[in-house]
Amino acid sequence: AGPAAGAGKSAPRSAEAGPGPALAKSASPARRPAAKATSRSAAPKSPRRKAAPKSEAEPDAEAIVLPTVSPRSGPLATALNGVMPLRGRLSSTLKRRGMSKVGEVLFFFPRSYEDRRRLVPIGQLRPGERGFSAGKVTRIQEPFTGRRRMLRVVLSDGKGSIAATWYKFWPSMRDRYQPGQRWLFAGEVRVFGGHWEIVHPEMEPDDEQGRRAAGLGEIVPVYPGLERGEQRGFRLLARAVVDRFADEIEDPVPPEFLRRAGLPPLARAVRAAHLPGPEVLAAESAPAPAQRRLAFDELFFIELGMALRRRGVDELPGIGFDAGPERLGEALGLLPFAPTAAQRRALGEIAADMGRPSPMNRLLQGDVGSGKTAVAGVAAELAIRGGYQAALLAPTEVLAEQHLRTLSGWFEARGRSVTLLTASVPTRAKRAAKAALACGEIDLLVGTHAMLQEDVAFGRLGLVIVDEQHRFGVLQRAALVQKGVHPDVLVMTATPIPRTLAMALYGDLDVSVLDELPPGRTPVETRVFPRRQRDEAYRLVAEQVAQGRQAFVVYPLVEESEKLDLASATEGAAELTARFSSWRVGLLHGRMKADEKDAVMSAFRARELDVLVSTTVIEVGVDVPNATVMVVESAERFGLSQLHQLRGRVGRGGGRAWCLLVAALQGEAATARLAVMERTTDGFVIADEDLRLRGPGEFLGTRQSGLPPLLVADFARDADLLEIAREEALRLVEKDPHLEAPEHAGLRRAIEERWGERLELTRIG
Ligand code: ADP
Ligand code: MG
Repeated sequence: AGPAAGAGKSAPRSAEAGPGPALAKSASPARRPAAKATSRSAAPKSPRRKAAPKSEAEPDAEAIVLPTVSPRSGPLATALNGVMPLRGRLSSTLKRRGMSKVGEVLFFFPRSYEDRRRLVPIGQLRPGERGFSAGKVTRIQEPFTGRRRMLRVVLSDGKGSIAATWYKFWPSMRDRYQPGQRWLFAGEVRVFGGHWEIVHPEMEPDDEQGRRAAGLGEIVPVYPGLERGEQRGFRLLARAVVDRFADEIEDPVPPEFLRRAGLPPLARAVRAAHLPGPEVLAAESAPAPAQRRLAFDELFFIELGMALRRRGVDELPGIGFDAGPERLGEALGLLPFAPTAAQRRALGEIAADMGRPSPMNRLLQGDVGSGKTAVAGVAAELAIRGGYQAALLAPTEVLAEQHLRTLSGWFEARGRSVTLLTASVPTRAKRAAKAALACGEIDLLVGTHAMLQEDVAFGRLGLVIVDEQHRFGVLQRAALVQKGVHPDVLVMTATPIPRTLAMALYGDLDVSVLDELPPGRTPVETRVFPRRQRDEAYRLVAEQVAQGRQAFVVYPLVEESEKLDLASATEGAAELTARFSSWRVGLLHGRMKADEKDAVMSAFRARELDVLVSTTVIEVGVDVPNATVMVVESAERFGLSQLHQLRGRVGRGGGRAWCLLVAALQGEAATARLAVMERTTDGFVIADEDLRLRGPGEFLGTRQSGLPPLLVADFARDADLLEIAREEALRLVEKDPHLEAPEHAGLRRAIEERWGERLELTRIG
């Protein structure tokens, strides 16, 4: 079994959602502004993983989140303007970040630290690192870059020189700098177009006041999501707030937990975060105790939230289906093939859940092609036999239709009615489907987002199945679940998730794993081709096409620019048509209408096309057994897990199959990363590698995970803390399921402050 299997099996029963009813009943937590409850993706806590210095100079205001705690009462709810006068830049910073209370500043932790204990000579600055230095202004320039003017202030200390550079500036900034003046400056050093520069640095005049403001002689915190120019003001505010309020922090975590985990009290950890000592400069892999304490809290409250949800759903009255071994045996008759051992095991777990009166909340993980649809079908059959309806939600129309094709074949043979509901179903058919659904005539509804709409009502919804669940937000899942009365929920994913992350993301779910491919499948042979050997890859494609086989060619999706994707895929298709005149080449991209996509997909499936060029919009799960080879262009731009999913699209026919990764490889790291794909077909190994190399972003589905953002903790580095946090949370909820004990009042308040409405939202189960 994959590593995540253990996580699930040892876990108690769980649920889609919902804190303990007791918590849910409590005074409704103050709603946070929507901007606060978004993803964590915008708060890069680890400079190591940041792509370019650019991200520091130009933080993306849109993406900024507020990973902090918002106290509702007590001293920490004191308004910030009572602490010090908030003017100018600082005031706009706070407004933009939605911060108005003392506690919000206390719990907004630095992303990193800078050693400003001494000035570094300009000649000793190093590109890619942060520097703190001083120099005399020698030149002021305003060169044009593209359409815009930029400001360059060249500073020299006699031995070396470097340019402070602004891509955005006000005329008044130019006037601040005069040749001959000495300035202190700090920021990330880079070499750009042959120039040494610091983009958008923090600048202070080199006088006594400036030295103090810059933090000369100190170790200085750098806060996430704030521009360089905003750091100083925020730093001073944080210092004032800590001085006055750190001692007011109540530690919500029971002392015996801290003793067991060897962690310092919260007030001390918060103080150390904002007023750091040299210990914070230790290797990032070995955080100081104070940092570990803060990381622990982040993880602990996630785990506690999960444990409460799980407990809460357990207490809900669900449906106890008749799903004993005999019934399961009958339901298995649905399938035209014998289930694999893994499918049998997963179905055993699912049937056991369905048989219990509390709602099932299970995650089914399995590589593409491992047979999740078959498992879903049998689960649906169990529900239908019990007199209920089942719903299968898919992320795209292509996938919904594919599911429909498979499932209606199986179900209609048994006289069950299966219906499709997507945006492109004609209005009249849609209306008929809704009517039939509401009066219970439809047994299984397969569809996309369209089925989440308010006017879609089920007569008796008993089982909700969500395919590729990471593509849906918590709210979307909840919308479907709410259409029944505590139905059972099965979510499926083809993205193997590293064990540590699975715990954090799905700690409230039970997990089943399909770790075996159906018989006759051979693993896809994967090879990496540097760009200059691209022709070799296509030679292999040509061989396959000549034998009557079909091929996929996949181009990456460039998030920022749909146009670019389209261009690269379109060009790719044109190039292949020109080079291989006998090939019938089709093109599929995200901008096509649903019926156009369908037409192309159907043509490919019917072998009217030899090669299908697509952007990644086509995604996982598409089933064309005759396709034996896939070329991935610009493979270096994909995450490993994504590549792993993509290659699952070939090799569905039983013969040999190839995945050819054409990549512009720069450096050993990139080469080594893709080589992992050649070495293994184990999705979990690949997932772990992805986590190690690219951080958790790949798996989090960012906005969709519904978890509070993390500032200090790191899922990979702090795996041990996560484990401890999880154990403590489970033990606690076991003892005090609704956190009613007086000694847990602080914990209860803390979790409400952190999870806010997300806890409430999860009540629906
Ligand atoms: P997934 O959804 O996990 O990617 P599917 O459910 O689409 O996988 O299954 C992939 C293919 O394997 C389908 O064509 C399916 O009919 C077939 N299949 C699934 N389970 C078995 C089995 N036990 N024996 C033979 N074929 C199977
Ligand atoms: Mg599938």
